[in-house]
Amino acid sequence: MDTFEKTMKAMKDMPQAEVTKAVEGLKAKCICGGCPTYTNCAKNAKELLFCAIGKSFMCIPAEKQCICPNCPVAKDLDLKNKFFCTRGAEKAQRYEHSIWGTKMI
Ligand code: SF4
Ligand code: SF4
Repeated sequence: MDTFEKTMKAMKDMPQAEVTKAVEGLKAKCICGGCPTYTNCAKNAKELLFCAIGKSFMCIPAEKQCICPNCPVAKDLDLKNKFFCTRGAEKAQRYEHSIWGTKMI
């Protein structure tokens, strides 16, 4: 089990109030706001932390560049994927890759 899997497991066992607090802490570290792919629509909708929450809700139509590999959250959680705003959360992308045995795009 790697760091990401251990963290997800620990969060699953936390009371909801602690999960909310942990998510807010991670959101504060998210650097999506400085990414070329991020849009004003996403900013106005306060969308962040796509790696955990999942794809943008219709605010990010095109992939330009992904700066997730430079994010402290990606380093702390040892994330293996990127473009979470368009391709889905780390958990979803790991699942897809395990099913199809390949990376998208
Ligand atoms: S890894 Fe990407 S989506 Fe996740 S918190 Fe960092 S910048 Fe945001
Ligand atoms: S998930 Fe990656 S591509 Fe999307 S806004 Fe965040 S840093 Fe940019």
